[in-house]
Amino acid sequence: PGPLKVSIVGSGNWASAVSKIIGNNVKTTKKFASPVKMWVFEEIVNGRKLTDIINTDHENVKYLPGYRLPENVIATPSLSQAVQDADLLVFAFPHQFIRKICDELAEVVPRKARGLTLIKGIDEGPESLKLISDIIREKVNIDVSVLMGANLANEVAAEQFCETTIGSKVLQNGLLFKELFQTPNFRVTVVEDPDTVELCGALKNIVAMGSGFCDSFCCGNSTKAAVIRLGLMEMISFVRTFSKGQVSIATFLESCGVADLISTCYGGRNRKVAEAFARTGKSLEELEKEMLKGQKLQGPHTSAQVYRILKQKGLLDKFPLFTVVYQICYEGRAVTELIPCLQNHPEHR
Ligand code: NAD
Ligand code: 13P
Repeated sequence: PGPLKVSIVGSGNWASAVSKIIGNNVKTTKKFASPVKMWVFEEIVNGRKLTDIINTDHENVKYLPGYRLPENVIATPSLSQAVQDADLLVFAFPHQFIRKICDELAEVVPRKARGLTLIKGIDEGPESLKLISDIIREKVNIDVSVLMGANLANEVAAEQFCETTIGSKVLQNGLLFKELFQTPNFRVTVVEDPDTVELCGALKNIVAMGSGFCDSFCCGNSTKAAVIRLGLMEMISFVRTFSKGQVSIATFLESCGVADLISTCYGGRNRKVAEAFARTGKSLEELEKEMLKGQKLQGPHTSAQVYRILKQKGLLDKFPLFTVVYQICYEGRAVTELIPCLQNHPEHR
């Protein structure tokens, strides 16, 4: 077999940051083919196609301005062309587009391909929770690992040191993706409970909204630490309740768990927009447009999905922080209600 061909499905803030890592790493070994295809949801930016800008100027001026992408990262607007001969597929786009994109991929992805999802979010099946990785497995019919961690895209693009976690059902595939991603400043740990890793990545965005609300009324660091800790306890309990696979508590101590909570609750987009939502009274859609310039928020949408799943199972009272975040986002509950929710948290009974 020849060198493994890598395709990135997505071209937003995070997708572009990882294209830097992947594009540079594939050049260092014969194991991977040098050209890396990147599927771009085409749009016109400053009168030019974004794919043309990336392929000529080697910069994603809309989603990761200021960072040069390797020249072997080749942007294409055609999803089928981007993936048709891929051996390794890296999924990195906002989770609301998962079904539409997977439907298109179903016919074209080679059966031998192996996938890795970087998407932090969940979906809902007719019954209950559905993982993004499960949607890919079902629709595209390939093995899927996950990569989640304390990784703010711009900091990773700036090559600041950080860690990340890969979760795999097939260890050998996780180790292969580790080879593709690891650099001196991007350290990868592989674990074997991928559902825990994936759910950590999705749920921490709800906690990040909570910490942004907390910041809006100037609570101190100790209160914010309590939001993070109680958020972590709800994450653990949610994963234990809903995960089909094995759940190792040690995984919450990896980058995808505690560390990602810290980075997102202090430096993430969800935190920032949540604070502005509480301070300005503007809608979340308006703020997303104004503040993120085309990038997408995951926290509010995930809080609504989690709320529906918990309500259906009669479990809302066991997850008061997740619940109050949803109610503040969508039901007009006051942000200050966060405090009684913390005061009466079941963790203290
Ligand atoms: P992003 O927030 O920059 O979103 C913008 C992307 O969405 C663009 O590529 C845009 O073309 C695409 N898009 C817009 N409308 C679309 C449509 N109708 N169909 C398909 N695509 C469309 O994206 P991102 O930051 O790359 O995030 C992808 C995932 O990675 C998310 O789940 C996020 O939680 C996760 N993540 C993000 C970061 C980060 O710091 N940005 C870090 C780690 C993980
Ligand atoms: P935000 O989407 O809140 O910016 O979080 C990014 C992230 O997942 C950092 O690990």
